[in-house]
Amino acid sequence: MAQKSLLQVEGVETYYGNIRALNGVTIDVNEGEIVALIGANGAGKSTLMMTIFGTPRARSGKIIFAGTDITNLPTHEIARLRIAQSPEGRRIFPRMTVLENLQMGASLDKLKYYDEDVEKVFHLFPRLKERISQRGGTLSGGEQQMLSIGRALMARPRLLLLDEPSLGLAPLIVKQIFDAVRELNKSQGLTVFLVEQNAFGALKLANRGYVMVNGNVTMSGTGQQLLADPEVRAAYLEGG
Ligand code: ATP
Repeated sequence: MAQKSLLQVEGVETYYGNIRALNGVTIDVNEGEIVALIGANGAGKSTLMMTIFGTPRARSGKIIFAGTDITNLPTHEIARLRIAQSPEGRRIFPRMTVLENLQMGASLDKLKYYDEDVEKVFHLFPRLKERISQRGGTLSGGEQQMLSIGRALMARPRLLLLDEPSLGLAPLIVKQIFDAVRELNKSQGLTVFLVEQNAFGALKLANRGYVMVNGNVTMSGTGQQLLADPEVRAAYLEGG
């Protein structure tokens, strides 16, 4: 089956002041794929995720989404093209209930789907339904991660960006989250780009992966290829 490119990042450089965090990054994500970006702390993974979303902005290079150049679009316009993210640290609204958090994610021009979409989130994460009236800040880390993903899904994304969904979670919860992402991809064909320090889990989940070191992409391949690669194993999979 010919694969259709959904996201292309071409030679992107991003700076914080005078410090270059991304050093000419090129990656692509095809429609229907799960693509993982792995790398150590501080490699620039979150910066890439945020640059795709428009803040901070790429200083050079190009970002194309579904044929549209989004490099210089404001974040709200990027969101309107149906890219949604679950950011690092989850960023749920702690004083709002689970349901209110989900409402915040709903896209204003897609409100006719609201009930259906809430049900889909509850089907994916039954735990959230049990906690429907509970405030976000009182949820466990895993539940907050589910809520963050659920909120992103309410925007009916074509591309879901996940920044470190497994961070700080117990292995059993990580498995539940990754299983849910796999299920979304399989049943709805949702395209997912995820950033992870949990290289093993991410590469097992992903069709393809990229390795980032100091703001550069140094390796790419299928999830299986990267899992079997001796350099990847030594740097990210063994003793970690
Ligand atoms: P982590 O998993 O720790 O988030 P990461 O791979 O996502 O790591 P980034 O957070 O993208 O890495 O950071 C890339 C580089 O940019 C690091 O050197 C970091 O110190 C720097 N950096 C990140 N955010 C800022 C900021 N707001 N101001 C200045 N420098 C920053």
